[in-house]
Amino acid sequence: MKEAAVRFIRDARRVMVITHVAPDGDAIGSLLGLGRALRWLGKEYTLACADPVPRRFTYLPGSEAIATGPESEYDLVISLDCGDLERLGAAYDESLIGLPIINVDHHVTNTHFGTVNWVDTRVASAAEMVLELVESLDVPLDSDMALCLLNGIVTDTLGFRIPNTPLRTMQAVLKLMEAGAQLPEITAHVFNQRPFSDICLWAKALNGVQLDGRIIWSQITQAMRQECALFEKGDAGLVNFLGTTAESDVAIVFIEEDDGRIKVEMRSVPGVDVSAVARDLGGGGHPQAAGCTLDGAPNEVREKVLMAVKETLSKSEAQSSKFEREQV
Ligand code: 5GP
Ligand code: MN
Repeated sequence: MKEAAVRFIRDARRVMVITHVAPDGDAIGSLLGLGRALRWLGKEYTLACADPVPRRFTYLPGSEAIATGPESEYDLVISLDCGDLERLGAAYDESLIGLPIINVDHHVTNTHFGTVNWVDTRVASAAEMVLELVESLDVPLDSDMALCLLNGIVTDTLGFRIPNTPLRTMQAVLKLMEAGAQLPEITAHVFNQRPFSDICLWAKALNGVQLDGRIIWSQITQAMRQECALFEKGDAGLVNFLGTTAESDVAIVFIEEDDGRIKVEMRSVPGVDVSAVARDLGGGGHPQAAGCTLDGAPNEVREKVLMAVKETLSKSEAQSSKFEREQV
């Protein structure tokens, strides 16, 4: 469906590009990369995300111009890195209803909500799909565009550490580096400049960490966030750290949100599909990285999620943790 997406973009004059709430490096990088291509094509456009750009991505050129919603009238909407319409949040408002939507995404849980649905679950990041779009639109890659797109790849692959970073992803990396993207600039900003408030949060959350069979989990409360003066949403990268525990196959962080709901972040080893668990609970994601947000008391939410994950683990092929499996 890439061809249809290219046709719609060529024919459009005013484009509204939106990425998902609680944006990550792929969301912001894809948005900015596509924005530069639209500018080169002479389109009028707005780049939007309902939530603010996390501080570690504000080094990306153009990030200061990301809006929180529509600012004018449009004839096309492009959704990037987003599995369902709800996850576009308030940036997709009633003024956009009825416009064609191009859905460009790589999540297995994508609901195909677009007029055109280009969903490729084989790639590691939406940024790679934007690179393909840029090439199909005959837009020359400049070094700023390449930096934004490489930022998407580096962050969604956790710095090339996810179990299945495909060869085609590395081919995209090569193209982006040849176009002038500096890998050290990206790693310096996204991995090596943690604010102390993140470390403070980790300290508090790790204090209560539990290893329950093959599941490692922890929780983040509003009080912890206030004590650490941490005002950004999310887990400050904690779930990815927990996922490196040898004795675990699934890592979970439960986050108490401003509105009292509980955000659940999950990571797993290959062979254990947490996207199915997340989808059953109203969320989504990738087989090895997924999430959802639930109503209810923290203890009840925790029990419900742990039960669902244990059920999935009991059905998975491996019946021991990756640590025990490596010992045999
Ligand atoms: P994270 O745990 O880093 O927030 O998200 C991991 C993956 O799951 C990302 O690809 C993200 O888009 C997806 N994800 C996290 N929370 C939700 C959710 O509530 N709904 C959906 N559809 N996807 C989610
Ligand atoms: Mn992504």
